Amino acid sequence: AKAAGRGSAMRFRPEMTASAQSRLELEVELRRALAQGQISVHYQPRVDVASGRIVGAEALVRWHHPERGMVPPDVFISVCEDCGLICELGALVLEKACAQQVAWAAAGRELTVSVNLSPRQFFHAGLIDEIDAILKRTGCDPRRIELEITESVLLGHDDRTVAALEALGRMGLRIAIDDFGTGYSNLAYLHRYPVDTLKIDRSFIRALSDRPAITEMIVTMCRMLGVTMVAEGVELARQLDWLRDHGVHEYQGWLFGPAVPPDAFDKRWPIPALT
Ligand code: C2E
Ligand code: CA
Ligand code: CA
Ligand code: CA
Repeated sequence: AKAAGRGSAMRFRPEMTASAQSRLELEVELRRALAQGQISVHYQPRVDVASGRIVGAEALVRWHHPERGMVPPDVFISVCEDCGLICELGALVLEKACAQQVAWAAAGRELTVSVNLSPRQFFHAGLIDEIDAILKRTGCDPRRIELEITESVLLGHDDRTVAALEALGRMGLRIAIDDFGTGYSNLAYLHRYPVDTLKIDRSFIRALSDRPAITEMIVTMCRMLGVTMVAEGVELARQLDWLRDHGVHEYQGWLFGPAVPPDAFDKRWPIPALT
């Protein structure tokens, strides 16, 4: 066993060193990015299935690296989680999202803005106070902010998790479960949590063409829980037709539009004139 261990360590060492090095590099550059304003937030419309109207927007973080160009969040969120920068990054995104919600409301556009919370950020002791401070600073109505957490947050940490979710709920914030169906959710525990929205993972929308039964089961579960259902990753008109036929409330996806900066959002989807 020892020999095999050494053998595999030798085999994997160069690769591991490279990735550890690049993660360290990323960490250094991320600290600079936060300090130098290279982080921005794009917004993807969330659309009412029945009316086709934009009812919300998801805040998605973007890193404009001076040499690397646009670094996708899938690459740097996990680095932020590991090195503890996630709370700072998360607070920055939340503050921008709240300020944007207020700006839209002032322009006559009442959107619910959703913001992703990583598990480490969720379990950070200062989270509630930080959110409270951001809401006060921006003057944002908490009922117009939805926090997206993943199913992994709901596992294992029962009492603390329920207490934190209830505290956020008392503040007026909405709670969504992101990527729903990819974790270990079941009805037995889900109803214990104060959840407003379930976001059905993109994989179930993609599966509609060959395995619709599974998606149907997820939708039935959501309906039993009486929560708002949002479909993620809707790319095709026939997927939207299916959602309409099955009573799914809202959707996001490239069929309607991708995440864009706020000025592009207003240009592409002008605020409907008041009548
Ligand atoms: P997510 O929260 O599940 O966000 C949805 C992702 O799907 C986004 O990728 C979005 O651009 C992409 N998407 C939207 N419509 C479609 C579609 O029709 N087809 C396909 N194939 N993709 C679509 P993005 O912006 O690259 O973000 C990736 C992930 O990074 C997010 O997944 C989320 O987990 C994480 N993330 C993004 N911003 C933040 C943030 O501010 N904080 C935290 N903690 N995580 C974030
Ligand atoms: Ca999300
Ligand atoms: Ca998602
Ligand atoms: Ca995700």
